[in-house]
Amino acid sequence: MDKELNCGMSAQVNQKTCATCSFWQGPRKVELAGGKIVRVKFPGGRYPCIAKPGNQTETGVNQCSRWGKWEKLS
Ligand code: SF4
Repeated sequence: MDKELNCGMSAQVNQKTCATCSFWQGPRKVELAGGKIVRVKFPGGRYPCIAKPGNQTETGVNQCSRWGKWEKLS
């Protein structure tokens, strides 16, 4: 992920939101502390969710029952 990406928002790694979901297509990057992933950083704005019909867009703070952990967090 581009280090210059303006990721002003963040989610804790154990939060079940679009930012931590495998279906969300927004730009995001992980934040490490002590060698462990502690947060996911992402920009504001709406990006496609490939689990929704027509790739409906979602912000990183939304959530739904289809949530599945982003592969980078496994
Ligand atoms: S809307 Fe649901 S399935 Fe789509 S990215 Fe957000 S939590 Fe994941």
